[in-house]
Amino acid sequence: PRLFVTADLPGPVAFDQRQVNYLRNVLRLKPGDAIRVFNGRDGEWRADIDVLGKKDGSARAEVQLGSQTPLPDLWYAFAPLKQARLDYMVEKATEMGAGRLVPVLTQHTQVRRINTERLRANIIEACEQCGIVAVPEIVEPVALRDFLGGLDRTLVVADEALAGEAGDPVATIRDATIRDATLRDATIRDATLRDATIRDATIRDATVHDAAVHDVMGPLAVLVGPEGGFSQEERALFTPRAVRVSLGPRVLRADTAAVALLALVEAARH
Ligand code: SAM
Repeated sequence: PRLFVTADLPGPVAFDQRQVNYLRNVLRLKPGDAIRVFNGRDGEWRADIDVLGKKDGSARAEVQLGSQTPLPDLWYAFAPLKQARLDYMVEKATEMGAGRLVPVLTQHTQVRRINTERLRANIIEACEQCGIVAVPEIVEPVALRDFLGGLDRTLVVADEALAGEAGDPVATIRDATIRDATLRDATIRDATLRDATIRDATIRDATVHDAAVHDVMGPLAVLVGPEGGFSQEERALFTPRAVRVSLGPRVLRADTAAVALLALVEAARH
């Protein structure tokens, strides 16, 4: 078993009531048993249980089992859904490697208020389950226009208007991130290098492109729309900044689309 704790690690760990119930009544552990703990900051540790009463539980974390590793620089942006589907989507996005979750309000978004504290609890449970040591952040909802306006990273939009269109979404995602990485690198080079020869377009493009292909892909955001889909006005906001991809011939529910799109990103990153 793996549990998220708030304490600094290594050190003493106090379990909350939910954790005490889980350790005592579900797993039937006792003092002397060990579990794994993480706090999102200090890697993963073995925690030896000292006390496990009906209400209180504590342990000592002294042996490190794994170091802190960062999450992928991948934002999962989504129109909020009704509670059960939202819970599912947030849990799956965490399992599928999102590093930050961004609720985005679109024209056809019906759910406009969300309980980020509750969703954070879902995220933590997903982290406990899937073995990651960093906890994705969830931010307060933002309007689509503001989200797009402030975005400084590649954006891939799952667009139901493309359902059934031919294309290779994995190649599209890969090309878009490499293109953005190339542009970013070229801008940095232009700003820092003064030598006209080095700035020669052919040499620069060739070397930057090669570096980008071999690099881990750059910062990326993906966006899934609401049950009502995107409006034509919103589609106009996407171009030419974002790339739009199809998730296949069928119109998927937004929570299914989350898993499908993040699986394509995973495929594009390898
Ligand atoms: N009600 C909309 C319609 O019938 O056109 C469907 C919206 S769908 C339930 C919700 C979101 O999932 C879409 O905005 C899109 O982001 C994504 N999605 C679902 N199926 C898709 C597909 N085949 N290709 C691309 N995106 C898809």
